[in-house]
Amino acid sequence: MSEITHPTIQDGWFSEKSGMWPGQAMSLKVDRVLHHEKSKYQDVLIFDSSDYGTVLVLDNVIQCTERDEFSYQEMIAHLALNSHPNPEKVLVIGGGDGGVLREVVKHESVKSATLCDIDEAVIRLSKKYLPGMAVGFEHPNAHTYVGDGFEFLKNHKDEFDVIITDSSDPEGPAESLFQKPYFELLNDALRAGGVITTQGSENQWLHLPLIAELKKSCNEVFPVAEYAYTTIPTYPSGQIGFMVCCKDATRNVKEPLRSWSPEEEERLCRYYNKEIHRASFILPNFARKALGN
Ligand code: SAM
Repeated sequence: MSEITHPTIQDGWFSEKSGMWPGQAMSLKVDRVLHHEKSKYQDVLIFDSSDYGTVLVLDNVIQCTERDEFSYQEMIAHLALNSHPNPEKVLVIGGGDGGVLREVVKHESVKSATLCDIDEAVIRLSKKYLPGMAVGFEHPNAHTYVGDGFEFLKNHKDEFDVIITDSSDPEGPAESLFQKPYFELLNDALRAGGVITTQGSENQWLHLPLIAELKKSCNEVFPVAEYAYTTIPTYPSGQIGFMVCCKDATRNVKEPLRSWSPEEEERLCRYYNKEIHRASFILPNFARKALGN
């Protein structure tokens, strides 16, 4: 059988190069390429890396690795869910690997968790190659819909308690998910007191103007819009941010409204705890100044 080749892999190393992080590249040693295809929307590459486990790459950008995915999935999910008093109906836009869904269904209050990803290939291949994340699809309260998140929201009003946008970067099929009209659709799709989190444009070292723009758009739509971040080795510069927004102007999303006991936190989470919930909103001075926090 001939070995699968890919332009991002040279001399046994995958390198992530992009105009979004000029002059730097994250490289991972490749043990074996498991799959490559061009789906209707994007280039999908899956490989095994001895130190990071199975890696999913879309359009040459790392989406998740088995070693560190829990940091991102837990934070984007629990920052929102623990900022809502009783989340029952939850929507995930994107998230085709299933990891966010896996976190959502850990909350006993959740009666229904719907995932809407544009690309069936990501869902199909994650079920085959990333079972630790795709386990989220197996929960009896989880429902899957294949389609564009922006279009999906147009037909859903006043319906969800929490909406989590786990999209790829703003270049490509996810472009529309970073702009004000999308936040207006999110706002309309939420019930009273609803909360959203979105993948908030990478990190403070690389994308402050982009984050400032995103925060401004969120602020124009939601009375509460705060920026939080997590650490994660395989995203550019080891960090990724989230916008956490709420329809209720009196709500402080920086303080968890609900929390698990320390024992439950230990059992359910590898990254998230209530202290890190609070800490994730505290920014260094240079970022605080740029974002007007
Ligand atoms: N955690 C990852 C990150 O930040 O790099 C994102 C992972 S998740 C796999 C991203 C998903 O967003 C992909 O499966 C992609 O198909 C989906 N996606 C991109 N644009 C979308 C859109 N307009 N509607 C719904 N899903 C979309």
